[in-house]
Amino acid sequence: MGQAKQRKTSLAFMAFSITLLVWTVTFFGAYTLPSQVSKKTTSSFGECRNSNDLTYTRFHAGIDLSTNGLENTNIYATEEGYLWKIWVNHEDYGNAIYIMHADGIASVYGHLNRFSDRFLPVIQSAMIEFGEATYMEITFSPNEYTIRRGETIGLSGQTGTALAPHCHFEFIDVRHEEYINPLLYLRDLLDPPLADLKIERVRIDGEALSIVENGTLYFTSAIPKIEINTRLSNRTGQGKYGVKAITFFVNEAEFYKILFDRIPRKMLENGDVVFGEGSNHSNYWYKLYASLQEKPIVVNLWKNLSTFPDLAACRIIVEDDWGNVKTWNFKLRRK
Ligand SMILES: [Zn+2]
Repeated sequence: MGQAKQRKTSLAFMAFSITLLVWTVTFFGAYTLPSQVSKKTTSSFGECRNSNDLTYTRFHAGIDLSTNGLENTNIYATEEGYLWKIWVNHEDYGNAIYIMHADGIASVYGHLNRFSDRFLPVIQSAMIEFGEATYMEITFSPNEYTIRRGETIGLSGQTGTALAPHCHFEFIDVRHEEYINPLLYLRDLLDPPLADLKIERVRIDGEALSIVENGTLYFTSAIPKIEINTRLSNRTGQGKYGVKAITFFVNEAEFYKILFDRIPRKMLENGDVVFGEGSNHSNYWYKLYASLQEKPIVVNLWKNLSTFPDLAACRIIVEDDWGNVKTWNFKLRRK
């Protein structure tokens, strides 16, 4: 009898534990991948993008999820919430859906070929009113369309500015007006790319030089302007990704750091603060200096400096989204 009772108790405890586990997974960070055709990403958060008219540089505000180049694959809501906004015919995002979640974070799905049939009546009546080809933003109140996690909200496509069909995905912290790196939440659901993190070149005051471990680089200016060319390069094909963090140490002190965890909305079109001359969507010259300290720049001691030391031991540590790290040690010497 006693044993049976104990067994019952442990069964009940197990059932309770499983319930707790399911509840935990359900309510804390259990995001669904917006595209389940593959577990590949083709772009990372914070990469350099030139505006279509080439007048300014901006940051890539999300990640690109591969749909294996296919159109009309299901795009799923990553978490429950409500339909907040729909963009139709946006120049960059094409057809896009914004879903607002309980924590004030919105998820964004871009380049869609089609919206879910649920939303079509509203979109079609707006199209009749404003025309089929014009850009429209339609906003909704919280009680209009409740969205379940994993619900199909649209189909993949190549609308807006996209080289191939894929799903552009963003997380926006609406209250703080910041874009959040989606890989902070989705990384464990995705496959790391078959790619190598490399520091390719360095520029000192505009002069490009090779990377030599423990080499000495010379400068003549009061404040040397250091830029590094680094990326995560695919082992096969031309694919490449921007990096997650770059830290510049001078005489063992953390002197300057760029961290692509969050980008404030006001910085989104100020890519020039981070990206140097010649940067584009596949080539990144990261400046290791700036006159301001604003995310993604999280450490900046240049502003406390009137002149750089005549000789300094320097170290650059580059990290990608997948846990790879590259370190380069060198000396900077005034000529
Ligand atoms: Zn994108």
